[in-house]
Amino acid sequence: MSLETTVMRFMSYLDKINMLNGVLATLYFDASTGAPNGAADSRAKRMGFLSSEIFSMQVSDEMKGYLDILGEQQDKLDEVVLAMYRVSKRVYDKKAKTPVELVRRFSELKSKAEVIWRDAKNNNDFNAFAPCLQELVAMNKKLLSYREGDAHPYDMLLDDYEEGLTMQVCDEFFGKLRASIVPLLRRITESGKQNDTGLRGIPVDIAKQREISRMIAQKVGYDLNRGLIRETEHPFCSGAGRDDVRITTHYYENEFLSSFYSIIHECGHAIYEQNKKDEIANTILDRGISAGLHESQSRFYENVLGRSKPFWDYICEELKTYLPEGYSKATPDMFFKTVNEVKPSLIRIYADELTYCLHIMMRYEIEKMMFSDGVDVYDLPRIWNEKMQEYLGLTPPDDARGVLQDVHWSAGLMGYFPTYALGSAYAAQFLAYMRREMDVDALIRKGDFAVITAWLTKHIHSHGSVYTPAKLVGRIAGEQLNADYYIEYLTNKFSAVYGLEAGN
Ligand code: ZN
Repeated sequence: MSLETTVMRFMSYLDKINMLNGVLATLYFDASTGAPNGAADSRAKRMGFLSSEIFSMQVSDEMKGYLDILGEQQDKLDEVVLAMYRVSKRVYDKKAKTPVELVRRFSELKSKAEVIWRDAKNNNDFNAFAPCLQELVAMNKKLLSYREGDAHPYDMLLDDYEEGLTMQVCDEFFGKLRASIVPLLRRITESGKQNDTGLRGIPVDIAKQREISRMIAQKVGYDLNRGLIRETEHPFCSGAGRDDVRITTHYYENEFLSSFYSIIHECGHAIYEQNKKDEIANTILDRGISAGLHESQSRFYENVLGRSKPFWDYICEELKTYLPEGYSKATPDMFFKTVNEVKPSLIRIYADELTYCLHIMMRYEIEKMMFSDGVDVYDLPRIWNEKMQEYLGLTPPDDARGVLQDVHWSAGLMGYFPTYALGSAYAAQFLAYMRREMDVDALIRKGDFAVITAWLTKHIHSHGSVYTPAKLVGRIAGEQLNADYYIEYLTNKFSAVYGLEAGN
C-alpha cells in the first residue's frame, strides 16, 4: 500500500473516532443539562458503549498497523498528519497494554467512589471515604504499571493532562511560588487593609443575569451562533469540535459576580475551541492541546482581562444599565477592588486570584506523597490541615471543608490539580509577551478585545493539538513555562490593589 493510501485510510479511521467522540460529548452535555432522570440507566449504557467503542478503536490492530507504517516514514508526513500520528501514538502507548478488565473495574470503582465521597463529605466523615481512596490510589498505580517506560507513576499521571509535565518541573515551579506568594500574602493580611466596598450581596434578578451573560459573552468574543449557554451546578465548557462549543454557568441571586466571572472563564475555554484553523476543523486535532493550556485561556479572559482595572473602566457604566438601584454609585475602582479582594479561605473554588495557587500547591504536594512515599491515607486530614495552616494561616473546622472538599480524587483525577496553577502562570506569561507588541491596557480600556484574541488565536487557538505544549509555548518567545512572569504579575497587581510599597 502506498504511503498516500495509508494516510488516507488512517485519516478516515481517525474521522470515525472523532465523530464518536463528538457524539459522546453531546450526550455528556445533554446528561448534565437536563436530560430526563428516568433515562439515566439507559443513557449510561449508551455512553459506556460509545466509550468502549472509542477505546477499542484507539488500541486496535488496525490502529497499530497505521502507526507502525507512519512511524517509519515520519519525515515524509506533512505537519498535520504528523501531529495526528503523534497524538494517536500517544494514546495508543498509554492504553494498549492495559487489561480491559482492569479499566472496567477502575471505572466501576470511580462511580462507586463518587457516591461514597459525596456521603462522606455530607456527613463530615473522612474515615468513610478513606478505604475507597486507598483503593483508588492502588488501582491507579496498578493501571500505570502496564505502561511502557519506567517513569515515576506520578509523572505518568502529570503527563496525562499536560504532556511533558514532571515532578521536577512542578517542584521548581511551586518552589518559586511558595517563596514569593506566601510572604506577599502575609504582607497583605498584616497590612490590615480591607477591600470591602459594599458591592457584594446586592440581589440581581436571575433573568437580568442571563442578559448580562449573553452581553459579556458576546463582548469577549464567544460566538453564540456556534455555542450556547446553559445552567448547571458547576460551570463547564464542552464541545464537539470548533463549530459546536457549549458552556454552562450557575446563577446566584445575591452574587451576580459569581456567574459573571464563570461566564468569562468558560468563554475563555470556548474561544480557544472556536478559533482553530480550517485545516484541523473536525479532526482529532480539533481540540485544545492540554489541560494547562486550556486553563491558561480561561484564566487569561477571567483574571488577566476580566479582573483588571482597565476592564472595569470599560465595562462599569454599561454593566450598571443591567443592575438594580443598589449599584448606582458603583465606580470602576469599587468593582476592581471588590473582585480582587484577597482573603485566605478554606475552599479552593471560592479562592481569590492570589491565594488560589496556594490551594493547588498543597494538593500537588499531597498527591505526590500519595504516589511516592506510601503515605497512610488515614493521615491525610492531619497533613491537609498542617499545610493549610502553613500556607494560608487557616485550620479547617472539619474535613468537609478540608480534605474532603474536592470531587477530583473520587473521580480518579489524580495529577490534574497542577494544571490549574500552570494555566494561571501561562496566562501571565502570555500577557508579558503580548505587552511587547501592543498596549494591552489601552485595548482593554477601549473594549477592543478582538486584537487580544487575534494574538491568542495566532499563537495558541488556531493550532489546536498540532503541537505539543512545549512546542506551542516555545514557538512564541523561545522559552518554556517560567514562573517569574506569574510572580511578577501577582506581586504588581496585588501590591497596587493593597497599596503596598514594592519590595518590603
Ligand atoms: Zn477552567
